[in-house]
Amino acid sequence: MSALATRLDAALAREVQSLAPYAQRTSASRGRRHPEPPHAYRLAYQRDRDRLVHSSAFRRLADKTQVFTGPLGDYHRTRLTHTLEVVSVARSLARALRLNEDLVEALALLHDLGHPPFGHAGEETLDDLLRPVGGFSHNAQALRIVEELEVRASQYRGLNLSLEVLEGQEARVAKPPQRSPLLEVQVVDAADSVVYDSHDADDAIELGLLEIDELREIGLWRESARRVLARGASLTPRELRRAVAHELIDWQVGDLLEHAEARLARSGIDSVESVRRAGWIVAPSPELAEPKRELEAFLFERVYRRPELVTYRRQLQALLAELFERLMRDPHRLPAEWRERFAPAESPRSIGDYVASLTDRGVRREHERVVG
Ligand code: MG
Repeated sequence: MSALATRLDAALAREVQSLAPYAQRTSASRGRRHPEPPHAYRLAYQRDRDRLVHSSAFRRLADKTQVFTGPLGDYHRTRLTHTLEVVSVARSLARALRLNEDLVEALALLHDLGHPPFGHAGEETLDDLLRPVGGFSHNAQALRIVEELEVRASQYRGLNLSLEVLEGQEARVAKPPQRSPLLEVQVVDAADSVVYDSHDADDAIELGLLEIDELREIGLWRESARRVLARGASLTPRELRRAVAHELIDWQVGDLLEHAEARLARSGIDSVESVRRAGWIVAPSPELAEPKRELEAFLFERVYRRPELVTYRRQLQALLAELFERLMRDPHRLPAEWRERFAPAESPRSIGDYVASLTDRGVRREHERVVG
């Protein structure tokens, strides 16, 4: 047997030993739309993860807004660091549940790849502007990026990812899907919710948008603080805030694991097929679901809708809309690379793709160049 076959066989055998029976195995993959020979030493979902990390859309997440942006400082999360936090929590969940970590990592790297500049404000604006051609959503855009827009090989468009990775992102677009998504997909969804609840509260305090005392109204925060203080350490307010943010993650992840394990056992789930029929497994316990909703509603009212943020977001939205509209009138102002890649370049969808691909800084630069 060749060294290559031996290495890949060993990797596949390790999966069989280490993964739970309800995990998605690489050997059970339905493959790629454009079949490719196996790699010398990386399994299929590892290759998917690597293709995502090396994509240009992924690099641009470094300068795309998560929630906070502009003149607020540089403590807060960007779309890239948010994504890496999701990867981190999702992998912890996957390892504890003995799921396929490579697949989980690829799905987590993909989950926010379609975000346009300026976060949800940018998404709203593009959705309005593209309404006549079907609107815009970051979840659908992530699929467009990896299936159409990324340039990787001459034989096909996009990244030619494994079908399970594409299917996982499709589940985010068309909720609720007919069959339950793989546990690997559910874990990423849960991890996303765990980290944004924690980091949005943390960012909002650091940026001075929220006082730590205001968060004491919120059960989840109060209980996390109680747990931290029960360990007996004496902490400065800043240390306390960070410790509570970490505790919030740790507590939620522990709860997800316990609840998921109980549901897996109770429903006798022993295969991917039984996962497909079982409904949603990886979800917070009822005891945590309600306080999570309370925290999210609080952040929505007190932080995301603060008048100064709303005003600032409107300015960014106007900038984005002006750039889009000018490019619709003057499509020859699109960079040559985009003009050549899409015929007709002046379709609203192509111009939407271009504007959505820009970073926050890129919109300002392009606005300056095109609108002046
Ligand atoms: Mg996310």
